Amino acid sequence: MTNPSEHSQERRNIAVIGAGIVGVSCALYLQQAGFNVTMFDRDEPGSGATYGNACTFALYGSIPVNRPDLIWRFPSLMFGQERPLSIAWRYMPKMIPWLMQFLKHCRQEHVDRTINGLGSLLRDAEDASMILFRASGGNDLISRDGTIYIYPTSESFDADAINRQRRLAQGAQIEELTATDLQDLEPNLAPIFPHAVLYPNGFTILDPKQITSRMVDHLCHTGGRFIKGEVSAVEAQSADGVAFKVNGSRHHYDQAVLAGGAWSMQIAKGGCEELPLDTERGYHVQFSESAELLNRPVGFADAGFYMTPMYQGLRAAGTVELGGLNAAPNPERLSYIERRVRQALPGAGPVSDTWLGFRPTLPDSLPVIGRSRHNPNLIFAFGHHHLGLTLGGITGKLVSEIAAGAIPSLDVTPFRPDRFS
Ligand SMILES: Cc1cc2nc3c(=O)[nH]c(=O)nc-3n(C[C@H](O)[C@H](O)[C@H](O)COP(=O)(O)OP(=O)(O)OC[C@H]3O[C@@H](n4cnc5c(N)ncnc54)[C@H](O)[C@@H]3O)c2cc1C
Repeated sequence: MTNPSEHSQERRNIAVIGAGIVGVSCALYLQQAGFNVTMFDRDEPGSGATYGNACTFALYGSIPVNRPDLIWRFPSLMFGQERPLSIAWRYMPKMIPWLMQFLKHCRQEHVDRTINGLGSLLRDAEDASMILFRASGGNDLISRDGTIYIYPTSESFDADAINRQRRLAQGAQIEELTATDLQDLEPNLAPIFPHAVLYPNGFTILDPKQITSRMVDHLCHTGGRFIKGEVSAVEAQSADGVAFKVNGSRHHYDQAVLAGGAWSMQIAKGGCEELPLDTERGYHVQFSESAELLNRPVGFADAGFYMTPMYQGLRAAGTVELGGLNAAPNPERLSYIERRVRQALPGAGPVSDTWLGFRPTLPDSLPVIGRSRHNPNLIFAFGHHHLGLTLGGITGKLVSEIAAGAIPSLDVTPFRPDRFS
């Protein structure tokens, strides 16, 4: 159990910047630990990447996108006809330093470090988040039917064996399915998938924005505050806390948590060290009349997205586009997803909605959880790339321990912000 130092006992006023799933989870844990918490977001809670994701609580998700096989698959992924990865070439010059570091982290020794780091967070992720979901009245937004991955060829299934081994080594549960098993579980899938696996303990958050907004309601009913406003101009180190502007007026807190997702470095500007944060853009295509076609999320391994039955219908969400925060959505990415959905699920109805979101990603595919070196009253909590919905709770728990001056309940060395210096 945490044992706050005397120093931290005096420093109870804390701001959380960003009300995505990560910031909101931090806010609730901090409040439970006795801090006076004020949250800020320029938008409604859960409107960023948290809004449109694939809704999977992916306890098996320890394998990063950058791994050894990415190097030789990169050209075909980039230039192939049906590709889950793309680059907006106009953004390329800005992206080269990040991309070089991202590719460098495809080396096996880096990948092993990432898998171990993600694995350590994932092992405690369910307990850490469920406490918050339950306290916020979110039980009805959770569905427990596992998650399936489908493979269109034996080659793709065999090629992924190494990753399944690694997931198992990190504690994931995996059941292999034959084509017949798959048809029994998901009869509306086209019978074109010879192999599949079931992750029985994966589960679904049926409406990520709704659960986030209930968590903020709970925060406010139990003494915290949410203020809607654009945060800017975080001031460089000050001995007695952190100061920043909200819609132009200055606010000062003993400590602050920076949980602005893919915008975190823009928010902080010169107020702390520069970290190599960029974004993996992802899309969703929604079919509001088609939720009943599937019983659980189905990850289309080669296509790079999940098809998830959720509150607003069937949501096909995923793929990676490297193109920064400002470029307009790319219609080709949306038609790619729609085309692949119709291959797998011929009964899918009309498209009802589309969305582009911004995963916050550091080149080693690990988040940063820890104090800024340049501004020690500022705590970083961002960079959760493909796993933020799953890792919000455990991040919140660790951040509250760090803010209280306690020894974190798991080793946070892999997530230290100074690993890039
Ligand atoms: C297509 C797709 C599918 C995904 N599927 C899954 C999945 O199935 N499972 C999973 O675990 N993860 C998934 N993810 C990843 C997950 O959605 C993200 O990692 C997670 O939402 C990040 O949460 P966050 O709180 O860090 O960021 P965000 O949710 O983006 O929140 C950041 C917040 O900061 C606010 N903000 C930004 N700038 C300012 C400012 N200047 N002032 C005030 N507020 C500001 C924004 O408004 C926003 O609300 C997926 C992501 C995508 C894009």
